[in-house]
Amino acid sequence: MTIPFLDLKPLYGEIRTELDAAYREVMESGWYILGSQVAAFEKEYAAYCGAGHCVGVGNGLEALELCLYAFDIGPGDEVIVPSNTYIATWLAVSAVGAMPVPVEPDPRTYNIDPDRIEAAITPRTRAIMPVHLYGQPADMDPIMAIAGKHGLKVIEDCAQAQGALYKGRPVGALGHAAGVSFFPTKNLGAFGDAGAITTNDATVADRIKVRRNYGSRVKYYNENKGINSRLDEMQAAFLRVKLRHLDRWNEQRRQRAAEYTQLLQKIAGVQAPHVPQWAAPVWHLYVVQAKDRKAMTDRLDRAGIGWMVHYPLPPHRQQAYAELNISKGELPLAEDMADHVISLPMYPQLASADVAAVASALAQA
Ligand SMILES: *Cc1c(COP(=O)(O)O)cnc(C)c1O
Repeated sequence: MTIPFLDLKPLYGEIRTELDAAYREVMESGWYILGSQVAAFEKEYAAYCGAGHCVGVGNGLEALELCLYAFDIGPGDEVIVPSNTYIATWLAVSAVGAMPVPVEPDPRTYNIDPDRIEAAITPRTRAIMPVHLYGQPADMDPIMAIAGKHGLKVIEDCAQAQGALYKGRPVGALGHAAGVSFFPTKNLGAFGDAGAITTNDATVADRIKVRRNYGSRVKYYNENKGINSRLDEMQAAFLRVKLRHLDRWNEQRRQRAAEYTQLLQKIAGVQAPHVPQWAAPVWHLYVVQAKDRKAMTDRLDRAGIGWMVHYPLPPHRQQAYAELNISKGELPLAEDMADHVISLPMYPQLASADVAAVASALAQA
């Protein structure tokens, strides 16, 4: 492979000394779960998002699930989700016993189309879960206005968008609560599983803090039947190191994305993602739409260039959601995207020359 789709090793090389120091500090502390590293990371990440509170948890799926729990959303409730997201958004809704109700995207930005949300609201609707997909913020102002009008909660899925700005404000504090994943491939990734909730609501943060740790506030005294979803000290220490570099890495992604977009303008049969004026995306993924995907990906394969499809099958077409009985053609925009999207190589250490090579391979297809 001449240009891999993603390579996490160079990033490790860049900050190895800092990570080694963090590792030693945690090892020598003799304290490995819910300690000073987690507390410090929670403070730093809350500040980074401009949120009043951050609670570190085990992973992104549980972060979203815990947000729903904090608002007492459960069986009999409906939650509006994008039709074209990673399935974890839907699974969080299912995990609390509620029903995911899909709404189609604006195909130019890939994000949930606010104009389609009201038609999906029923008396059972309790929340909207916009996803800042591929690192581009969803159009939050109209979403918040609709939520306000109907008395709904808004839970942001920030898994792909650490550092993205909506009208100059960071994602993670734009709704009532937000779930974020630090899966290793995300823009801010741990070296294992990790996640967090950010919110300005002190009650939400408190409920989640108790629930993540067996429903316990005071050791061996349990207020309720909680779960175990804790961020550990080692991952928190690593995340603190990486958070200090995140803006710089996101800026490198922005530069590569700008180069892609400029080069792709001249290539027929492939459409670059549209960025609204108010959005400052962080390019977790750089996703194009190709008229003839097979021709494009065959050419990339021949050139030794990595690519992926995010995602080949929308949640409603998965066997996991057969029970919803949504037939093919009912959510045509999500299905069309699944058939035409290609994710091109994207990471901070990607070189300008690599971007040019990818574009030239696409031009030859
Ligand atoms: C990665 C991801 C999640 C889930 O995160 P995990 O940490 O893997 O559980 C949720 N939503 C979206 C959109 C994601 O990309």
